[in-house]
Amino acid sequence: MADELTFRILLLACYLPGQIIRMLILRRNPFGKPVRTVNPGREMLMYRTGFYLFLLPLIYGLTPWLDFAHFSLPDGLRYTGFLVVVAGTVVLLLSHSALGSNWNGQLNIRENHTLVVRGIYAYVRHPMYLAFLLSGIGTLLLSANWLVGGLLLIWFWIMYLGRVDREEQMMIDQFGEQYRAYMKSTGRLLPKRLV
Ligand code: SAH
Repeated sequence: MADELTFRILLLACYLPGQIIRMLILRRNPFGKPVRTVNPGREMLMYRTGFYLFLLPLIYGLTPWLDFAHFSLPDGLRYTGFLVVVAGTVVLLLSHSALGSNWNGQLNIRENHTLVVRGIYAYVRHPMYLAFLLSGIGTLLLSANWLVGGLLLIWFWIMYLGRVDREEQMMIDQFGEQYRAYMKSTGRLLPKRLV
């Protein structure tokens, strides 16, 4: 039996570098002003809630405060969770580096917005949401803590289900046929084709 400290260290080790690199990528990109905004109230609420929820892995890793929500899980599944969080982090970083200054925490089209169809976006339209899903599943398994993983997953589904159709409609309104053609060759969260 590995001890709990090992799993705490593993979660911090796969979680923190990803967040730091993400911030560096975001700082490097000059963002234009939003010129089209969809559903701003809900989007701001989800963005803020998401920000605070993503502090949970940090609290889990550094304090005993969330230990009351621990459940027992075989070590093999917890190590699998580690690999899933790492995969989520890689997908998140690939998404940010392809999207560059077109990234938005909410549903906005910015000045000089371009449609990105290269890199990981050549395979899936929503790799960042895939990354959040992988992080949520992986965190649940690795932490064996229903509060940490459970809340992240609940947040993900509420955010995703209320957003993805509106986001695609916004992209169609902005990019028209170009986005419709892009939709035909890509999957939402998983690739339609691998080559
Ligand atoms: N849904 C994408 C992007 C998340 S960030 C993903 O999961 O990877 C959300 C913002 O990204 C949206 O407000 C939209 O402005 C922008 N966006 C989404 N897909 C895009 C694309 N293919 N090219 C450029 N911008 C995109």
